[in-house]
Amino acid sequence: MRETVKAHGLSASKALGQNFLFDEQLLDRIAAIPGDLDGATVFEVGPGPGGLTRALLRAGARVIAVERDDRCLPLLAELSQAFDGRLTVVAGDAMAVDVDALTGGAPYHIVANLPYNVGTALFTRWLEPRAWPPQWRSLTLMFQLEVAERIVAPVGSNAYGRLSVLAQWRSSARIAMKVHRSAFTPPPKVMSAIVQILPTAQPEGVDPALLSRLTEKGFGQRRKMLRQSLKSVEGAVPALEALGIDPTRRAETVSVGEWVELARALAR
Ligand code: SAM
Repeated sequence: MRETVKAHGLSASKALGQNFLFDEQLLDRIAAIPGDLDGATVFEVGPGPGGLTRALLRAGARVIAVERDDRCLPLLAELSQAFDGRLTVVAGDAMAVDVDALTGGAPYHIVANLPYNVGTALFTRWLEPRAWPPQWRSLTLMFQLEVAERIVAPVGSNAYGRLSVLAQWRSSARIAMKVHRSAFTPPPKVMSAIVQILPTAQPEGVDPALLSRLTEKGFGQRRKMLRQSLKSVEGAVPALEALGIDPTRRAETVSVGEWVELARALAR
């Protein structure tokens, strides 16, 4: 693969967050994380030269991928041919596509070695839908280790924050694999990790948009007491008191369950 990439003159672009993976064994292990993909639909962000895409196709998936770098398109077209058209590539920005529409209404898995510059924005968007479970069945995503740790962090830990609450209130989140920087070309400055997210039951009576706003306010001023950081959310401080959550606490001490309770009380 390395040779093919060289032949196509593909030098990695920093602006596009390009850190490529070429180790087939590693890529097969990543493609195995969602479980049996034979006949399944997978959405991939940023196939780049197609290493992970190829592993997903080898596992039997139908892959729909969005790539922003036009230089990769000829290589990906060759890959699509080699796998009987099971790969569809959309040229463009993953932030601008409606994945549910692209995948044609079928359930799908999302698997991606995400570009670091849009990774968390895409991730929070996938966690946002009002309807739950969402159309995606699992997320298998490469992040910088520090971001992966924030996603899976337990309450009270340094890494615990808004991302932890959004990822855990109606999903299970785990680090499936750590990946050393040397596995990438070019190697990034920091370690990476793959997070797997599986939707679980949604607690009743909670508006996802309200929970998102509460955590944005609460963790936006994480050193401040809740009575200060949540002041601008109408009814939040009295609701905290009614729930027995001390308003002098800080956001990082509030468990996922308590954030859910607060959002539910405010929706009533
Ligand atoms: N999947 C390849 C691999 O694992 O070797 C490449 C991963 S690289 C970390 C990120 C890829 O996302 C690059 O191919 C980059 O061009 C692409 N990309 C960056 N921003 C994007 C965006 N907004 N929408 C779609 N693709 C994007």
